[in-house]
Amino acid sequence: MTNNSNFIRRIIDEDNDTGKFAGKVATRFPPEPNGYLHIGHAKSICLNFGLAQDYAGTCNLRFDDTNPEKEDVEYIDSIVEIVHWLGFDWQDRLYYASDYFEKMYEFAVLLIKQGQAFVCDLTADEMRDYRGTLTAPGKESPYRTRSVAENLDLFGRMRAGEFADGSRVLRAKINMAAPNLNLRDPVIYRIRRAIHPRTHDKWCIYPMYDFAHCISDALENITHSICTLEFEDHRPLYDWFLDALKTASHPKQIEFARLNLTYTLMSKRKLLELVTEKHVSGWDDPRMPTLVGLRRRGFPAAAIRNFCERIGVTKQESIVEMNYLEECVREELNRTAPRVMAVAKPLKVIITNFPESETIELDALNHPNDQTMGSRKVPFSREIYLERDDFQEHPAKDFFRLAPGREVRLRYAFFIKCNDVIKDPATNEIVEIHCTYDPATRGGNAPDGRKVKGTVHWVAAKQAIQAEVRLYDKLFSVENPAQEKAVPYQALLNPNSLKVIQNVFVEPSLAIAKLQDKFQFERLGYFCVDDDSKSGHLVFNRTVTLKNQVV
Ligand code: ATP
Ligand code: MG
Repeated sequence: MTNNSNFIRRIIDEDNDTGKFAGKVATRFPPEPNGYLHIGHAKSICLNFGLAQDYAGTCNLRFDDTNPEKEDVEYIDSIVEIVHWLGFDWQDRLYYASDYFEKMYEFAVLLIKQGQAFVCDLTADEMRDYRGTLTAPGKESPYRTRSVAENLDLFGRMRAGEFADGSRVLRAKINMAAPNLNLRDPVIYRIRRAIHPRTHDKWCIYPMYDFAHCISDALENITHSICTLEFEDHRPLYDWFLDALKTASHPKQIEFARLNLTYTLMSKRKLLELVTEKHVSGWDDPRMPTLVGLRRRGFPAAAIRNFCERIGVTKQESIVEMNYLEECVREELNRTAPRVMAVAKPLKVIITNFPESETIELDALNHPNDQTMGSRKVPFSREIYLERDDFQEHPAKDFFRLAPGREVRLRYAFFIKCNDVIKDPATNEIVEIHCTYDPATRGGNAPDGRKVKGTVHWVAAKQAIQAEVRLYDKLFSVENPAQEKAVPYQALLNPNSLKVIQNVFVEPSLAIAKLQDKFQFERLGYFCVDDDSKSGHLVFNRTVTLKNQVV
């Protein structure tokens, strides 16, 4: 995919040099199925799968499904589908942490037998008090000295369902005075009577993330376990578990800075709230930073991959401009999106010297600099629509498009000249304008060499299709809504993030457009067919504006 260097590649190169993992590279992407994936996850996906590709290794998709209350098969299905959409494949290596529950239980029993884990009956509040602080050491639990036999018995009965939820936990016996709080006898199993999406009611005890994750990695023979910076302080625990359990494989945990983007949020909890509180239409609302949202908005997978590649991987927390992502989208669509014509604010034009019943078909290029994209026919007839902004009755000095007495080029068609402006006598508003066309200028050039200053887009009134267009703006009004603590983030939502325009006229070639098809509406931006077009009425999302476009 790429040969760009980053610090993780340097670590892998070094490991390959020293033969640490026998030259193998095995990574994994480990989502928790408690929400839809967002653009931040894309960074992790591209990184993990990208490294595997570049080093001829493997990347597993593993669901970290150890928290049954919040997890759901709906999320599992959507994650499987969207990682494929992004362009990555795990072949037959789709795994679930829950597949290892039995193994994890055995490992927990092993820790108990080694005197490295104990069943603790402190309440959650007591446990917090005993934990100490960053500056003060913790206190040892009075249950820490239970015998191996008693711990084995109690843990077995925890599994058997003899105790109430939350009444007991299994904890690792490490060091209550450790400066790193994660090492102060962390909980490794808790009792929860929850129906798990895959194991259903088989278990009423569930392993904690730190215990489950390193074991899952080790069981899958992961070499480089890549995660985000918040796990840096958990690494000593990751290593402690694997050392204590003497697993055959001991992956190396490497942390990188998560992606943050301006004007949006990356917290799955908050994104879920936006959905349940109906601030957006769903997880796939085109304003959401979720991958299903961005896909529906029209962002190509290739553009997201390019973006992830270009922002790079570091250990420095930062926030990336949303504009930068949009720029990657523009670049991709500029290359790949066919051009079509659509008129957003129509002004009716009568071509007075064009026969009333006639329609001619003109050739229009699908892409200005990619001949392989071919051309299409666009109909031209006596009534057409122009963009209202492309006409000024009293033209400003720097306005070069249509005005009374002036000639412009209709894209792919003819020169037309404006002869008359028809107004509503009551309101004085322009109702239509009357023009004549010059048949000799077909294709857009005059045989006598005369020039026009403006070229405008248009659609034939009778053949045009009326469509709905949805324009999107930033979801939040502030750059970093996650950082604003004074008000709830919901108060920072941009009230103008969605603007709907009805009755946009699009050229008839779009009648056969399929869901998700992407186009450049000439001079208006990049658009894609929204899923709501299923009913037959065309709906377009504006994916991004054209570069430097003001509206
Ligand atoms: P949760 O709080 O639910 O754990 P999460 O965003 O960490 O939320 P996971 O499903 O655990 O979600 O994430 C899967 C992987 O994606 C993890 O390895 C995580 O580090 C990575 N990841 C999550 N958010 C980002 C982000 N913004 N940038 C880069 N990687 C991310
Ligand atoms: Mg996580």
